[in-house]
Amino acid sequence: DLESLWQYLKSKFQQTLTKVGFDTWIESAAPIRITDKNIIIEVPSSFHKDYWEKNIATKVVEYLYEYTGQEILPIFVIKNEETSANHINETEKITVEPTKRKDALLNDKYTFDTFVIGKGNQMAHAAALVVAEDPGMLYNPLFFYGGVGLGKTHLMHAIGHQMLLLNPEAKVKYVSSETFANDFINSIQTKSQEKFRTEYRNVDLLLVDDIQFFADKEGTQEEFFHTFNALYDDRKQIVLTSDRLPNEIPKLQERLVSRFAWGLSVDITPPDLETRIAILRRKANAERLEIPPDTLSYIAGQIDSNIRELEGALVRVQAYAAIESKDISTSLAADALKSIIPSSKPSTLSIQEIQKAVSDYFNITLADITGKKRIKSIVVPRQIAMYLSRELTSNSLPKIGAEFGGKDHTTVIHAYEKIDHQLHLDDDLRRSVEDIKEKLAR
Ligand code: ADP
Ligand code: MG
Repeated sequence: DLESLWQYLKSKFQQTLTKVGFDTWIESAAPIRITDKNIIIEVPSSFHKDYWEKNIATKVVEYLYEYTGQEILPIFVIKNEETSANHINETEKITVEPTKRKDALLNDKYTFDTFVIGKGNQMAHAAALVVAEDPGMLYNPLFFYGGVGLGKTHLMHAIGHQMLLLNPEAKVKYVSSETFANDFINSIQTKSQEKFRTEYRNVDLLLVDDIQFFADKEGTQEEFFHTFNALYDDRKQIVLTSDRLPNEIPKLQERLVSRFAWGLSVDITPPDLETRIAILRRKANAERLEIPPDTLSYIAGQIDSNIRELEGALVRVQAYAAIESKDISTSLAADALKSIIPSSKPSTLSIQEIQKAVSDYFNITLADITGKKRIKSIVVPRQIAMYLSRELTSNSLPKIGAEFGGKDHTTVIHAYEKIDHQLHLDDDLRRSVEDIKEKLAR
């Protein structure tokens, strides 16, 4: 019958696929019906269907023949309703020697094991796995795009880890686009361009994160173009991320835009509630936190777009519980999150109050905040003030621009994105912003 036949197929694939491969392709599929000529298999997306048809279908025919003595062809149908968030089994641990990972600059925590799959990232996850297991073959370059804190960097690292797991000799290099740019500029200044090129072109997998920051960097783009070509011609895998599609990145050279389109672009969209709960649960387990399910749902319900913030909220609740020496409960979580959840944003806060708080904090004048001076000690506070105006008030971008001495709304967007990005890289900046926020909350 269908069930035992499926079990047989599964046991065969368990032997031939990697653990993550098995979880991704086989566990996400379900047999629907069998006739004497066909087996109908349901898969989660067109992307999965495509992969099954190209890579798994012939095996299915072969195994079914072994089992039944008949030629049975698979037909794939796409599951129409949303799939629930499913965990990757936690038992398998990555065991690449630490030095390798260090060379590649990969974060140990960002693996496929720790990545929770949900509707918004399912296709990105599957594509990531394909390139990790078959680098340079199918999707080159692989391009992830989507908002901040949705798992792009995590997936990139996971690709690196998985590739090293399968091939410990592989050369993996992860860099942010800024690091690439800095390395390039340094190589010119120190006349070590040869070294730069060997470093970047002698890899099996190059991961370049946040390439929207290539905008405006002509020389760097030029160099990256050559790096890209060299790797591509050698069939080395390239993976890129950005907060938007290549053709939406201002001042990105057309030849780069067109090359990036040679492979596969996949977007990552914000997680639905179920996925957010699954992510929190996983994180709470990893940290051995005792949190009632209601409370997890409550937190996941409050923070709905950004996984980094979701994790931040959990840390906050944890810290609050420790300070108050209480168990974590929903009411405790509500208290802990009071100042960060949107509904309790200080709604009366005005742009002027933010400008005042920022200028006080940095000891500059209000006129400097709204003015045009281009010195760093003023530009950064000004950008922080714009960032906070967007974060903490409901004013439109043009309105915010107007309040900053009549600046264009694109200036506000730029400032917002700049700060938002730097917050993850620059601890001092993050502390300043937190301090100012706290002052404003009082
Ligand atoms: P991005 O690069 O898109 O801004 P990150 O990859 O830095 O986002 O993710 C932000 C945080 O959220 C990281 O700590 C990451 O581990 C976590 N995260 C994102 N997506 C997932 C997921 N699907 N499962 C588990 N953790 C996730
Ligand atoms: Mg990132």
